[in-house]
Amino acid sequence: MGRTRVLAAVLCAAVLATTAAARAAPLAVTEIAPGVFVHQGAIAEPAPDNGGDTANLGFIVGGSGVAVIDTGGTPEVGRRLREAIAARTDKPVTVVIDTHMHPDHIFGNAAFAGVPVAGHANLQDAVAARQEVYQRRLADELGADAAAGITPLRVDQPVADALRIELGGRTLVLTAYPTAHTNNDLTVFDPQTGTLFAGDLLFLDHLPAVDGSAVGWLGVIDTLARVPAVRVVPGHGPAVGPAVADWPGALEPERRYLTALVEGVRRVLKAGGSIQEAVTQVAQDERARWLLFDAYNPRNVTATFAALEWE
Ligand SMILES: [Zn+2]
Repeated sequence: MGRTRVLAAVLCAAVLATTAAARAAPLAVTEIAPGVFVHQGAIAEPAPDNGGDTANLGFIVGGSGVAVIDTGGTPEVGRRLREAIAARTDKPVTVVIDTHMHPDHIFGNAAFAGVPVAGHANLQDAVAARQEVYQRRLADELGADAAAGITPLRVDQPVADALRIELGGRTLVLTAYPTAHTNNDLTVFDPQTGTLFAGDLLFLDHLPAVDGSAVGWLGVIDTLARVPAVRVVPGHGPAVGPAVADWPGALEPERRYLTALVEGVRRVLKAGGSIQEAVTQVAQDERARWLLFDAYNPRNVTATFAALEWE
């Protein structure tokens, strides 16, 4: 190769590299049913090695538009989701559906500015009360740049009970629940394919995190089990494969853990035990069955102890 051609090749590579850096790399997505796409986040807490990409995200393509279901843990994850959508369809994103308040699910909303947001009727207030803390934590976990561009969340379509969203020949059913994982949990059901996006009402492999009510969550599991789904996308854990096609069986590990949590805390309380004793004793048989057990079980026990202390 002559000098000129080498130089041309180097320049060309430099231009390609610059273009790639300016445009976010699309997230990996899988089409799990016709027009239904999922991205599986890392089963981990947000950290530099995963860039805050720790929640499962999805989108559903209708005849006239696209519904995004959760947007990721940072604006950058949201931009990468937007690129993944653009790679699969020319249809515009017409609604962002936030399944609940947790930052790993909503901070990518910044990449969809101007698109109406649908969420639980409690969502906007719940985020407003916590946003400062969430942003500070994100900056601690990933650096100050990760939180750049996050704005307050405005819910344009609040869901108190249920809401149908039309995408052009495809109708999604959004359902709001009483306090369970949080006080603002929402699911999205696509009757056309029998696909249920459960948000964090369903954890697989990743230990469930209780930021609402463990007792309430057990009640919601009974309600969820009646949804006529053929597959389910959990908020955390495998989003493709045999586990997601087992419905309502996919709810059982979570039900077993939450039952052990509630019964264990009640036993300690009845015996006059302390919160510290509860943390070391409750649900220990579950440790080997879950990822991130030691990160979340102490918090779950503490929250459940405080909630059940006065019952
Ligand atoms: Zn959550």
